[in-house]
Amino acid sequence: MPRHVTLADGRSVEVECLSCTLTSGLITPTGGVIYESSNFHVHQDVAYPIKGLVILAAKRHFYCMDELKEEERFEYISLIHKIRQEQRARLGIEKVYYFNNEDTTHHFHLWMVPRYEWMYHFGNSVESLRPVLLHARSNMNDEDNMKSVIEGINILRDGLKGFVSNTR
Ligand SMILES: [Zn+2]
Repeated sequence: MPRHVTLADGRSVEVECLSCTLTSGLITPTGGVIYESSNFHVHQDVAYPIKGLVILAAKRHFYCMDELKEEERFEYISLIHKIRQEQRARLGIEKVYYFNNEDTTHHFHLWMVPRYEWMYHFGNSVESLRPVLLHARSNMNDEDNMKSVIEGINILRDGLKGFVSNTR
C-alpha cells in the first residue's frame, strides 16, 4: 500500500517504503546523508530535532534482525560502534538509547537517540522515549536548535568520512 509521506521540509511524496525511498537516494533527507555503504545508510530524521540522533537503515528491504546476512551482521555492529564513538568524541554524547522495532512500516532500521539532561524530565528507559521524541518534534523545531542539529549531522558526517567497516 503506497503511503503519502510529508517530509520535514514540507515536500510530499508517495512511497511504498520510506526506508527504500531514502536508502536508494530517491529522496535526500534534510541535512543530507551522514554515511552510506553498499549495505547501510545513515541519516537523521530532523522531524525529531535532537542533536546527534542517528538512524541507521539497511539498504535491502527486510524487517527482522534474523534476516541480516552474514556480511551485514559484521558491518551493522561495527557501524553502530563507529557512530557511537563519533557521537561521544565529537558531540560529547554520554549515553544513547537504541530502538529497533521489527513491526515498523519502514524497513529495518535502528534509532540511536542521544540521552540529554532535559530528557530525564520525561522519565527513564523505554517509557520516556515517545514523550521525548514528541517533545522534540513539537517544541524544539526553532531555528537555533535546527541549526545545531544540522551542525551535528555535518560533524558526524566528517567523523564517518572514509570509514570502512570490518567485514572480517
Ligand atoms: Zn524498504
